[in-house]
Amino acid sequence: MRKKFSELKIDAASTAKDLEDSSTSSISGNEKPTLYVVATPIGNLEDVTLRALRILKDVDLILCEDTRHTKALLSHYEIGTPTMSYHAQSKLSKIDTIIDILKKGKNLALVSDAGTPTISDPGVLLVAKIRETFGDDISVVPIPGPSALITALSASGISSAEFTFLGFLPHKKGRETLFKEISISERTMVFYESTHRIIKALTSLKEHCRGDQVVVVARELTKMFEEVFSGNATDVLAHFENNPEKCRGEFVVIVR
Ligand code: SAM
Repeated sequence: MRKKFSELKIDAASTAKDLEDSSTSSISGNEKPTLYVVATPIGNLEDVTLRALRILKDVDLILCEDTRHTKALLSHYEIGTPTMSYHAQSKLSKIDTIIDILKKGKNLALVSDAGTPTISDPGVLLVAKIRETFGDDISVVPIPGPSALITALSASGISSAEFTFLGFLPHKKGRETLFKEISISERTMVFYESTHRIIKALTSLKEHCRGDQVVVVARELTKMFEEVFSGNATDVLAHFENNPEKCRGEFVVIVR
């Protein structure tokens, strides 16, 4: 009996076989299978485009960094598309499974927990392997939307005509060298930081930066405790040391 795709159980071993039995979505308007790289909210569930919602609804399968996390978004918008996990620890065989699904002509969406997939997030290797395997026989379509670094820059008041994005700084080796580079750079420098290391990062900025350099910390963007705080490195460190409750959450740091 032909199963409805949404009723299929999705796991790495069974997915390729199950998909053989299901019908294929047709949203790309061409014959090629399509991988949509879909940006999702970085906090506020309203920050998702109409196109992203349509694609998430219409694809055959959504590849998620964490399926439980993405299900909050999907259930908010009443999207019943099946999901499968694809994350940083996924084995290489998972990529083969995904490639098999695409070979069957299925359309997939790749999302991460927040923001734009592949930007300090999993998916780069997957996209590279898919491009290598299919060449021109696949469409890889970006569906733009939120990204924390662009969101932070937009509210910082700092020129982003030219900037260098460092992603997450290394925890040990090379970390101090990067702070030295940040302190002498002519360009705006942007990096991601976590709760655990924000004070450490701001302390290093205080040690290395000149007094005329501006530091902006954008915290919990689009969420209840959103804050964009700017000043010189000394002032910014003092602000967060004096308000330990503000050291929780997610951070983008910008230095100019
Ligand atoms: N792919 C995501 C993007 O496009 O922004 C980034 C994912 S990366 C694993 C997560 C980091 O992004 C967090 O540790 C934080 O530095 C930054 N970030 C994500 N959401 C944020 C938010 N709402 N406010 C501030 N920073 C955020």
